[in-house]
Amino acid sequence: MNPFDFDLFVIGGGSGGVRAARMAAQRGARVALAEAGGTAMLGGTCVNVGCIPKKLYSYAAHYSEAFEEAHGFGWEGAPMRLNWATLKANRKKEISRLNGVYSNLLAGAGVTVLNAFAALVDGHTVQVDGKTISAKNILIATGGTPHVPSIEGRELVVTSNAMFDLEAFPKRLLVVGGGYIACEFASIFNGLGSQVTQLYRGEQVLRGFDDDVRHFLAAEVAKAGVDLRLGEDVASVTKTADGLHVALFSGASITVDTVLYATGRVPNIQGMGLHAAGVAQGKDGAVLVDGNYQTSVPSVYSVGDVTARVQLTPVALGEAMVVVDQLFGPAAGKVPRSMAYDFIPTAVFTHPNIGTVGWGEAEARQKFGAVTVYKSEFKALKHTLSGSTERTLMKLIVQDATDRVVGLHMVGPDAGEIVQGFAVAMKAGATKAMFDRTIGIHPTAAEEFVTMREPVGR
Ligand code: FAD
Ligand code: NDP
Repeated sequence: MNPFDFDLFVIGGGSGGVRAARMAAQRGARVALAEAGGTAMLGGTCVNVGCIPKKLYSYAAHYSEAFEEAHGFGWEGAPMRLNWATLKANRKKEISRLNGVYSNLLAGAGVTVLNAFAALVDGHTVQVDGKTISAKNILIATGGTPHVPSIEGRELVVTSNAMFDLEAFPKRLLVVGGGYIACEFASIFNGLGSQVTQLYRGEQVLRGFDDDVRHFLAAEVAKAGVDLRLGEDVASVTKTADGLHVALFSGASITVDTVLYATGRVPNIQGMGLHAAGVAQGKDGAVLVDGNYQTSVPSVYSVGDVTARVQLTPVALGEAMVVVDQLFGPAAGKVPRSMAYDFIPTAVFTHPNIGTVGWGEAEARQKFGAVTVYKSEFKALKHTLSGSTERTLMKLIVQDATDRVVGLHMVGPDAGEIVQGFAVAMKAGATKAMFDRTIGIHPTAAEEFVTMREPVGR
């Protein structure tokens, strides 16, 4: 007789958890999944308060520039205006549909879904809704949550979780932070019609990205209307009759309707009994895992944002697949999956987008020694008539010793869509000579990546 209630107990119904539960069940395992937020939170951060609603609002925001630009192409008519309530209602409907899709996928695969918070008792036992359940293996996939530093007036600010459903549209918005979320929301709400100020404490936003990309993006979003202030931070927030009065360290102040703090995310580990169960934790409580996603308790695995490594949905999905292959074998006819953390492509859905894969120039010089850099900056064909002053940046970094393209970066429309394909080539080890031999698709912006001939620097 099987000594355990389940073969796998998954804690967290987000990107990593749902994928692991579904795939394990499809391989014949007896699987249960607990989601603290219930059916309405199935899909986790990405589906409910992350990638998906963010991208929908980004599409909404792009219309404002499209309406403006249409005049140059001969379109005439009254200006359109945003109905915030309609956007929110349509988003809500689509997210509910996705929650249902996830629920059906899990049910269809035979996963037992528990709409409750789960805590670890030991390496083979979880506590859910007052019940004790045993499992041969446990997967912690509880994701992360926004972190707001302790400032005076902290209770008056909101995080990205609240932005999608703000009661009133913020006519004046202050965004604090310079990472993915701060930059994306600054662009999105600017496009939707807010007067946006963004504060970043450092010298330039998007630390960790290629320096040219960071500077170029900052200039483009400023041109688009975001009041980006660098080397600046919030001293206090107080409520006044006219809105939220924000005092800045520089001595300046600003009054806005909403203050969004996008200052990073921390792992969801509170109340989960990890310490008592012997699961080793790192900074901010992040679950520590080895190369096989195994924690310090051998029967307990962990993937995704709760491990505080690369916080991206496709990474959580990839990690989940590796765990499932390890525990239950690969899919029929396939070899077990593995994850590599180099050449992970990523996009920042600012307006314009950033798309990037591989190393930035400074990092590449450190890692690969001598490199040659190719760069192109131009006005897209569309903007010859649109009247927009938006420009596009493309950059390639090539390792001299091997001719391999080790960094590819773009700031411009649809950069995320464009860079995905190049990521395949780079993962396969494409050299600059191969890029040069590739025929372009004309007229596109993407063709520039295969037509850059003159290096700008070694
Ligand atoms: P999550 O998706 O966060 O899921 C964890 C789940 O566990 C949650 O549903 C939570 O309710 C549940 N849970 C927590 N504790 C417990 C418990 N004790 N018991 C039961 N359930 C529990 N990534 C991209 O790749 N592209 C993007 O465009 C993108 N945009 C983003 C935009 C925003 C605003 C944010 C916040 C994130 C974005 N991300 C994006 C990141 C992406 O959402 C995360 O990397 C991804 O969701 C991580 O998946 P996960 O499975 O680790 O955790
Ligand atoms: P990030 O870690 O990307 O950025 C946090 C920002 O907040 C940094 O600019 C940081 O500054 C700043 N900051 C941190 N602490 C403070 C503080 N005490 N006071 C002032 N500023 C502070 O986190 P995000 O919250 O933006 O996003 C979390 C993760 O979610 C991302 O890293 C990404 O992996 C994922 N994500 C992915 C998206 C995508 O794929 N398009 C979109 C959104 C999120 P400093 O640089 O100086 O430390």
